[in-house]
Amino acid sequence: MVQTVLGKRDTEKLGRTLIHEHVLIGYPGWFMDNRMPRFVRDEALARVVDAFQQLHAYGVRTVVDPCPMDLGRDVTFIAEVSQRSGIDLVCAVGGYFEAQGIAFTFSHLDVEAITEIYVREIEDGVGGSGIRPGLVKVATGDGHVSAYERKLLTAGARAAKITGVPILSHTENCTCGHEQIDIVTSEGLAAHRLLVGHSCGRDDHAYQRALAERGAYVGFDRFGIEVFNSDENRMRNLKKLVDAGFRDRVMVSHDTVNCWLGGVPGVGSPEQVKHILPNWTMTHLFERIFPALREMGVATQDLDHIISDNPRRYFAGLA
Ligand SMILES: [Zn+2]
Repeated sequence: MVQTVLGKRDTEKLGRTLIHEHVLIGYPGWFMDNRMPRFVRDEALARVVDAFQQLHAYGVRTVVDPCPMDLGRDVTFIAEVSQRSGIDLVCAVGGYFEAQGIAFTFSHLDVEAITEIYVREIEDGVGGSGIRPGLVKVATGDGHVSAYERKLLTAGARAAKITGVPILSHTENCTCGHEQIDIVTSEGLAAHRLLVGHSCGRDDHAYQRALAERGAYVGFDRFGIEVFNSDENRMRNLKKLVDAGFRDRVMVSHDTVNCWLGGVPGVGSPEQVKHILPNWTMTHLFERIFPALREMGVATQDLDHIISDNPRRYFAGLA
């Protein structure tokens, strides 16, 4: 079973699943920049619901929103989007990486306390909402796992072990994927309980293949974000993994942000992002990437497997 924001679903009924998209994101202190557009809940809701409704045409039934607790996570907003759009949504528990999250609170707590907090949310729901996260989010910074990040990864792995939910990660610049696997497996979990996110951020087949060989799921989850790496490189790397027999290990998504609270760090206003990344929408995979991959020789059957079977096995805890 998968815990969605509207209740339990059979893993067999997940259907086509986008494994990493955001309903709403607000970086720490987002409300401090008063030059940015104000958040008007009803307007934002209508806009986001419209974006999610467009997924029905492509057979998408489930979307995972792995927003960490400290990036403006709003589970009642997510639940409302799910209710109105008819798309099943899965939310997460867990903290972001030290440099970009809110490290203050958990820096005072030990790994046992953080594990207890995570398990409580998964079993009893977030706050008084009764909405239960269906996976754990973990994150590491660029090139180095800090003591804080190691603590949260350890707590995340322990909470996943206790509750049976999978783990989804954030990485920076395709670094620390192996360290994430090391920490998760050292807590007694199989590597396939972890999806190493953003592993498509560099043209680096050797790195991606090494993660797959260890048994972890490998995130090609930033299609449309061409500032770090081109979609062309991503598609070439994805095909290489499929050709090498690793289609079971690949997960695809866009990491879109459908509503920004405040501004976009390092860019400016949400409107400016649309100009820089015109293809960064939740339908990009179906409109451009899958057709292009088919033309490159990736079978339709392989793509179906990646977008339907892999998320199902991941949530079912299967290799
Ligand atoms: Zn993300």
